[in-house]
Amino acid sequence: MIDTATTERREISKISLPGKGQSTLEQTPRREYQSLQHVRPPVSFESLTHGQFPEEEFWRKLPAYADIDRETFLDYKWQSRNSKTSAGRLKKLIGDFAPAEFFTDLEQGLSKAPMALRISPYIISLIDWEDPYNCPLRIQFVPIGNRLLEDHPNTHLDSLNEQGDSPTPGLTHRYFDKALFLPINTCPVYCRFCTRSYSVGMDTEEVSKVSLRVDYERWKKAFEYIESRPELEDIVISGGDAYNLRADQLEEIGLTLLAIPNVRRIRVATKGLAVMPQKILSDKKWLQALTTVGNHARKNHKDMAIHTHFNHPKEMTWISQQALGVLHERGITVRNQAVMQRGVNDEVDTMIQLVRRLSYINVHPYYVYVCDMVSGIEDLRTSLSTALNIEKHVRGSTAGFNTPTFVCDLPGGGGKRSIHSYEYYNQDTGIAVYTAPSVKAGKLFFYFDPIHSLSEQSRLRWSDPVEGQRMLDEAIRESKTSSSTVDLA
Ligand code: SF4
Repeated sequence: MIDTATTERREISKISLPGKGQSTLEQTPRREYQSLQHVRPPVSFESLTHGQFPEEEFWRKLPAYADIDRETFLDYKWQSRNSKTSAGRLKKLIGDFAPAEFFTDLEQGLSKAPMALRISPYIISLIDWEDPYNCPLRIQFVPIGNRLLEDHPNTHLDSLNEQGDSPTPGLTHRYFDKALFLPINTCPVYCRFCTRSYSVGMDTEEVSKVSLRVDYERWKKAFEYIESRPELEDIVISGGDAYNLRADQLEEIGLTLLAIPNVRRIRVATKGLAVMPQKILSDKKWLQALTTVGNHARKNHKDMAIHTHFNHPKEMTWISQQALGVLHERGITVRNQAVMQRGVNDEVDTMIQLVRRLSYINVHPYYVYVCDMVSGIEDLRTSLSTALNIEKHVRGSTAGFNTPTFVCDLPGGGGKRSIHSYEYYNQDTGIAVYTAPSVKAGKLFFYFDPIHSLSEQSRLRWSDPVEGQRMLDEAIRESKTSSSTVDLA
């Protein structure tokens, strides 16, 4: 009988160790492995694209950036100064590189969008302007009129009812031991699908925003509330985006929260790593403030982490890899919260590639959310069944600790639930019913698939409010928790 384990050990012992500065993959001749037994078919190194970050000056392919050198492109101040905030300025920059009709579409899209336009040169240079209609990065940040779809009757601007769960403006206390603090209402870019469309960014033609701008008196009230509630151990510093806080503001907020005895964990929420990684490499003051807060947390046996927001593998380049490397060297944990969107990441292969690429640069793929039921973004939402199918394929594709939990942040403020934990789901009507016993016991919460994903017959039923109520009543009856009260956002 052949002892395969011994044979394998002998074969491996033939392999010479790499020299300094050389990776094992570069050094080891492939033929040395050929006698090993394979329980899965081997793959080529070249096919492992999730780990490849070629150091190209990719921005130069856009004519407007052809003369931008590396030093300039890596400067966060240049990125910030050259972000585009209007259709006209974007058109001037892109010119004939995009199809002519695209900019007319863009103006129509912006006139109906809940979010203003703001887009960084980093993202602009990663968009495929020759095919902007199908580019997953364009879809997330730049609305176009001809793709917009009619809202589901149950969408809202503040779909999670954050304001309803706020004891003081800009502080949401929904979970027992966790609160969400919103110190600022601006971001380095504006995402079309923003959960906080009710407050983030400038007013649009459609929406007058609730003001949550930087205000030290408002912050003080939030700190006092947190201190007055001994059960609050976990505080998320979000916005807007913590990237837009000045270094001294970030440090002040971080150290103030860590000085509150009951606070054990803080999280700095920023999409910045995905849309302007240059800041980590060139804003020394901000990086130092973040490091100071992280070190202070560790010295006091508390915790600080960054929560970021990559949605597509294309958002990660060698610049992101370098920025994440800097944070990793400083012992700063980074977790990702992706949002599933139609045409962006609602395919199995894309989501698996996103998860693998994140893991490769030391970002934990923590959550994937089904898109919130925010008004004006119906074209971005996918059905719950799409999310269930993608989750099935992602699980098992990599290690468990790098496998995101797919969640639905319940409209109306029930908090995040695993998408699988519904009490009832009817793919025909698109109604899913959840409960949240540790958040709001005794209540039912609903997620609705977008109308465009339903059958013709169900679409017709939703166009009639009486039929809509009938479908809802049936869902409540069938969910077998009829003693619960109903909470529609
Ligand atoms: S970065 Fe976050 S808060 Fe800002 S627009 Fe995007 S999703 Fe909203």
